[in-house]
Amino acid sequence: MSALLGRLATRAAGSTQVVLLSTLAAPLLLAAPSLLAAPSIAGAEVGTQAPFTRVVIDAGHGGKDEGAIGVNGILEKNLVLDVSERLTQLLQAEKLMVILTREKDRFVPLEVRTSRANDARGDLFVSIHANAAKSRKARGIETYFVSLEASDSASSLVAERENQALGSSGPAALAQDPFLALLGDMISTDHMADSNAFAKLAQAELAQIVEESSRGVKQAPFVVLMGVQMPAALIEIGFLSNKEDASSLRNKAHRQQIAEALARAVVAFGKRYDARRGLDSLAD
Ligand SMILES: [Zn+2]
Repeated sequence: MSALLGRLATRAAGSTQVVLLSTLAAPLLLAAPSLLAAPSIAGAEVGTQAPFTRVVIDAGHGGKDEGAIGVNGILEKNLVLDVSERLTQLLQAEKLMVILTREKDRFVPLEVRTSRANDARGDLFVSIHANAAKSRKARGIETYFVSLEASDSASSLVAERENQALGSSGPAALAQDPFLALLGDMISTDHMADSNAFAKLAQAELAQIVEESSRGVKQAPFVVLMGVQMPAALIEIGFLSNKEDASSLRNKAHRQQIAEALARAVVAFGKRYDARRGLDSLAD
């Protein structure tokens, strides 16, 4: 058992999870869903697999995991839940089904988020976070899709911070850990192109509201995105360590704009997804 797997086993609260964790890593993510609580589904009832219908929204952190703390006192866990709720409403208005990995201020382990998304057979996974950096000058919005190698050192640090809920000790441990290497094998190349496509759509929409501080699409080893069996991206909606960003994020209208930008990206992605398979989009 790898060190990380050991830590996971230590953290697992239920005995059923410990049993799974003592076997291979893959069953943790692929078989665990049936043993976990059903995902909370808002909107229409579970229907057919096609066309593009199900969007999993993952509000980062929650409960004892507060995430980044803003220079103005905003907590990442509350901020991203608010934006996730706004996005949920907008997507439901587009007749899309939304599956939330958490609805309240609750701690949900990263591997459980992944399981819930797979269990719900989502068509797209959108994880929402807010950034923090040592330099208080760093600001802006960036979108990630998963890879084992970070696209640059700053991206590596972002993944390191966001992976803390798993108890990982940083990118070095991530790169060397056999459990993570196994997770890496589970990154589907089929979904890589779609994940990149959605990330580009999302970042292009977000860039329209934060023109001067769009930081582009990047790649990094985010645990929550690994093992997700669908196109997936993680959005960092601004730096809570930056005064201007933290101030904007405190503003409801700004949070609504972010949600609207993400909703436009999801709808556009869904249309492409359906068009490629020769289906009429529900979002038309
Ligand atoms: Zn976060």
